[in-house]
Order: sequence, then structure tokens, then C-alpha cells
Amino acid sequence: MRGLYIHIPFCKTICSYCDFPKRLADSNLFETYLNRLIEEIKSYKNELNDIISVYIGGGTPNVLPLNLLKRLFDEIKIYLDNSKENTIELNPELVTNELCELLNEYKFNRVSLGIQSFEPDSIKLLNRHHTQNDIMNAFSYLRANNITNINCDLMFGMPNTSLNNVKNDIEYVLSYNPTHISYYSLIIEEHTKLYLDIKNHKIKEPDEDLEADMYSYINSKLKEAGFKHYEVSNYAKDGYESIHNKLYWTCNEYVGVGIGASGYINGVRYSNNLGINSYLKSFIKDSEEISLEDQKKEFMMLGLRMLKGINVEEYVKRFKNAPTIDFPVINDLVSKELLKIENNQIKIPEDKFFLGNIVWREFV
Ligand code: SF4
Repeated sequence: MRGLYIHIPFCKTICSYCDFPKRLADSNLFETYLNRLIEEIKSYKNELNDIISVYIGGGTPNVLPLNLLKRLFDEIKIYLDNSKENTIELNPELVTNELCELLNEYKFNRVSLGIQSFEPDSIKLLNRHHTQNDIMNAFSYLRANNITNINCDLMFGMPNTSLNNVKNDIEYVLSYNPTHISYYSLIIEEHTKLYLDIKNHKIKEPDEDLEADMYSYINSKLKEAGFKHYEVSNYAKDGYESIHNKLYWTCNEYVGVGIGASGYINGVRYSNNLGINSYLKSFIKDSEEISLEDQKKEFMMLGLRMLKGINVEEYVKRFKNAPTIDFPVINDLVSKELLKIENNQIKIPEDKFFLGNIVWREFV
């Protein structure tokens, strides 16, 4: 049971907060990159027999022209045909009916729309370029082509935003009735434009207390609207939890291809070269065997991102020891009410999710 992640690093413009492996779209590089990417996918032929999820992310995958996307889809058709969930990330302003027809033809059954905000000021601050109309068109093209499992990526805690902005974003997103919402708190990463603007006092840093209020408002509103809060930043309607992301959170294996991608196969984690020239010479930059101790820590840390937490029996089955023996700190966290043990599951109580960092750092 594995996932396949394919990275398309090209973007039309660079968002002010972006810390992902990406580069400005240069059509002269598209084919060269695609050839190399396909070569890398082929090199994992033996590891890709039991793929249950294909995820094409970026960057902005729909920056590639249709003929090149089609070429990529032809190469991975066998996986698209056999996996349960095929997701592609799309920027709304670049979604066309022809693209959605192609996605439908190749059995993409899930789309993740990079929206982040519906508010024009926030969209501008983030240096994104969609309009309300783009989002509306994207939804209607997707649905007209039978792609109805749609995730909206949203963000809160942007500088200069209030609880009212979050309320507006939620009202808009619910009006589109998506099946899944990923709602991340903005992280100001070093070396981004936003970081420099804050450092140079051009923009005020977001307020932490306000962020906490936003998070609890989001949780209650989305729950009220019928979404299940199943991971710290992810909400799904019944039956629409992301299969691909759950592979990561339950420490299952995945093959990652493309610049900056990482993978986890046969107990070895690898990460690919970030620069296009270095990637053209060699796919992998680093790889390391994950020790048993680190596997246990990852299992706890990632599992505790999910609302249902980790299953004690599953832990024992994997690691032949009880989690409370391996991590006596669990008992301390339970006494501080930052963890609870219920029906054989160890989890963070939902109202303490915003303090998740205090728990997760115990398992690093
Ligand atoms: S579209 Fe995504 S990958 Fe590209 S710059 Fe924006 S955040 Fe980064």
C-alpha cells in the first residue's frame, strides 16, 4: 500500500509566503523537466505495484500545457487506472474546461484548488492572482466533467486580517460546497518576501491570540457545516478524507518524484535535488535509513496530528512494545490533559489542538 507523489515545480508568479520547491515557469524547460521526471518514475517501476493514491502537486501543475500533461498522464496511466484516489493541485485562474475533460479522461477523481483566500486584499498580499470568477468557473468546469471531490486550500492568520476576514472566507467557501477543506495557519518562513517585509517593518506580524480565535472559529463553523475535523488542519465531509495524506500521517510508504520531492521506501527516506541542473544530473540528494527509534517517534508525531490519534494495538503490532513504555512522557501529557487515552486510541483532545506543538515536540 503506497502512494505516488509527482512534483511539478513551475509557477507563473511566486507567492509572497512560499517555501515550497518551485521556480518561475519557463516554457523552454518544460520538456526537459518532463523527460527527466518520466525517467525517474520509470526507475521506480518495481516499487509502484501496489499504488493506492497518485498525487500531482507543485508548484502549479496546471501551468504545464495540455499536451505535456497528457504525456505525463499516459506514462502513469497504469497507476491512475488502478489507484483509489488520483489528485491534482490546480490554481483556479488556470482551470479550463479542456483541462477538466482531460483530467476526467485520465480518471482524476480529486482536485485540490489553491485558493488561500477569497478576500482581494489577502490575495494581493499573498501575491496570488485569482478572482471570484476564476473560482466559480473552476468549480463549474470540474463539476461539468464529473470531478466532484474538490478540496479548497485556505489560509488564516495573514497580516492585516481580522476575524471578519475569516468569517467572509468561510461563507464563500461553504457557498461552493466542497467535499474537503485544508485550512492552514500561515507560517512565515525565512527567505520569503513576507518574512522580509515583516523584518523590515513594512508589514505587521500576525497576532498569535487572534490566530487562536480564528482557529477555534474555523473549527466550530466547519463542524456546524457538516465537516469532520480529522487532522489538525484538515476537514472533510463523510467519506472524503484524503487517502493520500493519510498515507503520510500513518507512516506508510510513498514514492516521490521531481525536484525537491521526498520519498519513503523500504525504511529509507530520500530527498531529491532542488535545483533543476542538479536534478538533471542525479535525482536523489540525500537518503537515510530510518532507525527503529525514529520510526516510533514519527509514528507518534504524525499520528497525533489526526483527531483520532494513534491506535495502541497498531503501535504494539508494529513495534512490539507499548507506546507508554517507549514514551513515558505520554503519562505526563495525559495528566496535563494535553493527551487523552480513550478506546485504545491516544489522542490530543480537540480543544487542545492549537497547543499541538507542545505535544509533538516531545516526539521529535
Ligand atoms: S503557487 Fe504554490 S508553489 Fe507556486 S509560488 Fe504559490 S505557493 Fe509556491
